[in-house]
Amino acid sequence: MPPGHKRDYYEVLGVAPNAAGEEIKSAYRKAALKWHPDRNPANKQQAEERFREATEAYSVLSDSQKRAAYDRYGHAGVSGVSFEPGISHTIFEEFQDIFGDFFGFEDIFGGGRRARTRPQRGADLRYDMTLSFEEAAAGVQTKIKVPRLEFCEACNGTGALAGTGIVACQSCGGRGQLHYQQGFFTITRTCPGCQGAGQVVRERCPQCRGQGRMERERTIELRIPPGVDNQTRLRVPGEGERGPNGGPPGDLYVVLEVKEHPFFERRNADLYCTIPITVAQAALGAEISAPGLISEEKLKIPEGTQTGSIFRLKGKGLPDPHGGGKGDLYFHVRVVTPTKLTREQRKLLEQLGEILRAENRPAARDSSFFEKVKDIFG
Ligand SMILES: [Zn+2]
Ligand SMILES: [Zn+2]
Repeated sequence: MPPGHKRDYYEVLGVAPNAAGEEIKSAYRKAALKWHPDRNPANKQQAEERFREATEAYSVLSDSQKRAAYDRYGHAGVSGVSFEPGISHTIFEEFQDIFGDFFGFEDIFGGGRRARTRPQRGADLRYDMTLSFEEAAAGVQTKIKVPRLEFCEACNGTGALAGTGIVACQSCGGRGQLHYQQGFFTITRTCPGCQGAGQVVRERCPQCRGQGRMERERTIELRIPPGVDNQTRLRVPGEGERGPNGGPPGDLYVVLEVKEHPFFERRNADLYCTIPITVAQAALGAEISAPGLISEEKLKIPEGTQTGSIFRLKGKGLPDPHGGGKGDLYFHVRVVTPTKLTREQRKLLEQLGEILRAENRPAARDSSFFEKVKDIFG
């Protein structure tokens, strides 16, 4: 259009002269959508002209300085500033801004029917699993059901309705790029219709709605090594989601929650357990059956064992899931003072008490503690 016949920019976009920035943006979006040449194959030339006109109007009205100049002087105020090369080369950057902004919207130029042909890696998946303390110690061979995106069998992962196949993108004629002529400039952009792939699906596969993938539940065999701890993350390579367009699959991460044990506690591969013994066992020594994680363990309590003593059974702890050796099993001894004595027990303990008191007297010579106690209690 010759400069003398230029339409008013506000009129072009169909907005009032006092329209706010958002309004102008939205009006341009509508106009661009309406007049995109690909959407007007019957009157392509007119559409192209309108598209360009709206773009020019928007580039002025969306810039407060240019808009002010336009408001004051009309087209003369902005012509020669932005649309002629040599004076300002920022026009290119501006158009990048405008198109970059609008092309971000997938659906604006018939997006959504684009063929996603670029292979991408599938997403990683997380599966949470709870194990008993014993299961974690012994290891588990199990099967888990994981819902994940699989290739759509109906369309073989292409996203196209069977028999329709994939065709060259009409927007760009299969080149994957669009060229916009603006004054002396040609601006090249990735085609929004096909995201640069040059191809689109003619009709979407109804099974996967053109995605090429759909959610399926898969059964996966899982071998959990013995000795895993709470919050262990097991990586199962390649069992995540299938990648779009034949891309490699992601990984599956199994995150373990190991339940606590009523009397064992673990610190890395070592096991800790408190065992109660009687006064007599502590004094006389004994061989007792102590709990182990898998079977009972024989534990020798030596004569004169004090409460708080710790005994270690080497190699009776947990296996190292990374293939190292085994941890140890520690028994923490607690001497239980008897309560609710029978008459006979009381009598025997009293006798024992008499003997011990008598025996302690000479020994107390070395002990200031016993001296003090004697001073206090007589
Ligand atoms: Zn499909
Ligand atoms: Zn295209």
